[in-house]
Amino acid sequence: MQLLDGKYVSEKLKGEIAHEAANILAKTGRKPHLCAVLVGHDGGSETYVASKIKNCEQVGFKSSLVRYEADVTEAELLKKVAELNADADIDGIIVQLPLPKHIDPDKVTEHIDYRKDVDGFHPINLGRMQRNLPSFIPATPYGITLMLREYGIETAGKHCVVVGRSNIVGSPMSILMARNTYPGNCTVTICHSKTPDIKNFTLQADILIVAIGRKNFITADMVKEGVVVVDVGMNRETSTLTKSGYKLYGDVDFENVAPKSSFITPVPGGVGLMTIIGLLKNTLSSANKEVYG
Ligand code: NAP
Repeated sequence: MQLLDGKYVSEKLKGEIAHEAANILAKTGRKPHLCAVLVGHDGGSETYVASKIKNCEQVGFKSSLVRYEADVTEAELLKKVAELNADADIDGIIVQLPLPKHIDPDKVTEHIDYRKDVDGFHPINLGRMQRNLPSFIPATPYGITLMLREYGIETAGKHCVVVGRSNIVGSPMSILMARNTYPGNCTVTICHSKTPDIKNFTLQADILIVAIGRKNFITADMVKEGVVVVDVGMNRETSTLTKSGYKLYGDVDFENVAPKSSFITPVPGGVGLMTIIGLLKNTLSSANKEVYG
């Protein structure tokens, strides 16, 4: 078993991103600029946004944060997004999800200029990705492809089983793994909450990608020997044993699945760190006008 080590890969790729950001600054006199919008005080969202901003600083990007209380109206939020769209100094905009119930996340996502949609959630980017056209790729699936590439994981002709079909992880991941490129060229099966006997499918997986949000859902009896496992799950549980006051668990029972796998991501220290890399790379591409000119 070998770890797919998000810490190692993300640090390496951050070095490359920092180098490119310095080139942009030298050429244009400006830094790539990511703007995050955070609504309310959800603990997870606060942590993710703080980490995104810290990572921007580490690679020499400019970052800014727009904060709203949870009672902000949808109209007010959409007005702010329009302002950020029109601001020529901003290369990438992210609105941290989840949003309070009275705000429609799809409406907000579609309001972001697709040319600044560095989370890659806008339908135009998703459609272009499906067509294999230049686009911003959703940050988590993008980060996973970078991880697979770094370890030279063979994907052509393999059976990839994706558990979870969300718009931000499972669904785009399944499209990427089926595309005619590397990593890709897999035969892909998608499982979700209505799939009967999921074990029947996971046992067939050469590559198993799990994104459902259920602690230790995938157990050792559900995987075959030699499987490559990518655990996207981030299940937070309060803990008195950690400084932060919580502990993270994946969707995979790491302790018992790892011995059967050829490669596996840990949680934490795996996909989460790669998601940030996906976001930084999209922001860099936007600053370089690589995707939409
Ligand atoms: P989501 O929007 O809640 O979607 C969950 C998906 O899992 C749905 O497709 C659902 O099926 C499926 N599912 C739920 N319970 C299931 C079960 N018992 N058996 C089979 N399928 C089941 O979640 P998400 O946003 O994709 O996130 C999934 C997990 O990844 C969460 O733990 C989240 O925190 C984590 N995450 C991590 C990162 C990272 O950077 N590491 C990024 C994003 C998300 P239906 O469609 O049928 O409801």
